[in-house]
Amino acid sequence: MAPERLKAPRGTFDVLPADGERRRSLRTAAERLLGGAGYAAFESPVFEDTALFARGVGESTDIVSKEMFTFEDQGGRSLTLRPEGTAGACRAYIEHGMHKRPAPVKLAYWGPFFRHEAPQAGRYRQFAQVGAEALGSDEPSLDAELILLLAELLEQAGVARLRLRLSSLGDAPTRAAYGEELRAHLRAREGELSEEVRARIDENPLRAFDSDHPGTRAVMDDAPLLVDHLGAADAEHFATVRALLDDAGLAYELDPTLVRGLDYYTRTVFEFESAALGAQRGVGGGGRYDGLVEQLGGPPTPGVGWAAGIERILLAAADGDEEPEADGPVYVAVAKPEAARRAFALARTLRPALDARVELEQAGRSLKGQLKHADRLGARAVVIVGDSIEVKDMSSGEQRTARDEHELLRLLAS
Ligand code: AMP
Repeated sequence: MAPERLKAPRGTFDVLPADGERRRSLRTAAERLLGGAGYAAFESPVFEDTALFARGVGESTDIVSKEMFTFEDQGGRSLTLRPEGTAGACRAYIEHGMHKRPAPVKLAYWGPFFRHEAPQAGRYRQFAQVGAEALGSDEPSLDAELILLLAELLEQAGVARLRLRLSSLGDAPTRAAYGEELRAHLRAREGELSEEVRARIDENPLRAFDSDHPGTRAVMDDAPLLVDHLGAADAEHFATVRALLDDAGLAYELDPTLVRGLDYYTRTVFEFESAALGAQRGVGGGGRYDGLVEQLGGPPTPGVGWAAGIERILLAAADGDEEPEADGPVYVAVAKPEAARRAFALARTLRPALDARVELEQAGRSLKGQLKHADRLGARAVVIVGDSIEVKDMSSGEQRTARDEHELLRLLAS
């Protein structure tokens, strides 16, 4: 009996070549954009102590209470596959004494994240995020800069029908006082709420804004709003962020009901959504988390950042213009077996000399098969290596002999 074929686990996927290329160009664009604003490449482990997320993200959040891939290692330690990147960045900031570096410390990352959610289009159990964090300064220009960088990245990626929701949650005392007021409102109309929201009135009343339950929605339509309760400094901070976005000409919607699924946010919060996506329309979001580093045992340190989902960006951009490769590759064909070593060496020489993609025959095809394959690859030219070296221009069909490598380069460059 043939052995059973194994599949990738539920909610995971393989990145096949065409998608792989799109991811690679998105990553290059992100690195260029973020690098240009001073965000340096940062990486942290894919798993961390479970306590980091319990303390950092918050026990009552969906992420920590039901979506983490947690396991015990051989030494009995509880570890968790990271569900998000900010807690790890703050842990590293503390561990490496980055508060001693000139502020702000700007970090950019790209990598896999894991959440045990019900898989559907745009929602996976392993997904990739690009993210950026600025630690050590509470300047509103950082909030605005980060929002603008994400807007630019999404625009460059061709994400269609974008909407930016923006709000401010104020500082911790404001949030606490507001939480009490909101709890009182929810308790007064407890009978109308969904069971889930009712069960979490004490723990996390803000999440009631996220509910689709009709009764809960009616209660929330009359709920007090946090933006009406901001202290003077927070209100001024938020006004400056908005003014900088206005100056940059970036459109946003003030949405006082914007609640992010993580506990650590203070002041600015934002989320980009694309109407090109289905139910999972959030492409990226973030906000300020001025208390998080201290909560994780570090010195009081303001911070702000965002993360965006790579798969969702590419899904939302899928309808956009596919950029055809400007220049097809050069294909090095082998006319007879004795020429294989020369062809191999020639491909290596041509790559840096042309600074272009150069492909080589590596599957034992006949010369005719090789020319057909080169055509399929969209090659602009084929270098045929045999007793002589010929260059065939694939658009005109014209074929010329190159007497030496110098002439070969000249023919390929023209
Ligand atoms: P969050 O930290 O939940 O705001 O997530 C930031 C971004 O990551 C979201 O806007 C999504 O684009 C992406 N994301 C979050 N969870 C998933 C998931 N389960 N599958 C795919 N993308 C996700």
